[in-house]
Amino acid sequence: MYIKALVLDNFKSFGRKTKIPFYEDFTVVTGPNGSGKSNIIDAVLFALGLARTRGIRAEKLTDLIYNPGHEDGNDSGGPREATVEVILDNSDHTLERTQVVNAAGSDDVGDVDEIRIRRRVKETEDNYYSYYYLNDRSVNLSDIQDLLAQAGVTPEGYNVVMQGDVTEIINMTPHARREIIDEIAGVAEFDAKKEDAFGE
Ligand code: ATP
Ligand code: MG
Repeated sequence: MYIKALVLDNFKSFGRKTKIPFYEDFTVVTGPNGSGKSNIIDAVLFALGLARTRGIRAEKLTDLIYNPGHEDGNDSGGPREATVEVILDNSDHTLERTQVVNAAGSDDVGDVDEIRIRRRVKETEDNYYSYYYLNDRSVNLSDIQDLLAQAGVTPEGYNVVMQGDVTEIINMTPHARREIIDEIAGVAEFDAKKEDAFGE
């Protein structure tokens, strides 16, 4: 399974609907400072529910909505809604149809060779709302997280290595570093289960 494409609509600096294709093996995004490279990563984390607001460089969720007056802090009163869709190539069936159907709570998920996870944040006069969709079916964050966990993608995981993470790993105590290796190797899960068993 891999990210095949990303569709950003009114998210951060992407004021126009933008579809970004990704290659299966390796994709590099280049561009001048401030051109929106990191915003692309933020979009993935936002849509997949993998990061808290701070982790995607926003104080509140509505800061993620495109704001034409971002630099000078002006709000032009444009549409206050942002959407990001992550299109996953699942043609290798990393996630089986039954897993997707369970997460979506519906049989009507189409062909699961492609899994589309979409998140929308909408601001109204006095509130804001966040919605998740799995192949166009409305779902909860926990449905998305449970589904992705079955493919080894979790908020605690190292599917995304952020700026500063490498330095942090270097500066860690050997014990803490070992925990990370256990996590990546998939051993940590069994340690936790062992703890649970001792507790019982
Ligand atoms: P660098 O090479 O310095 O890391 P970058 O390409 O990663 O740069 P980003 O951090 O992705 O750049 O983009 C920063 C730009 O996004 C800034 O110009 C900022 O004003 C803009 N931006 C962030 N949030 C919004 C928003 N809600 N509306 C409009 N523009 C935004
Ligand atoms: Mg950057």
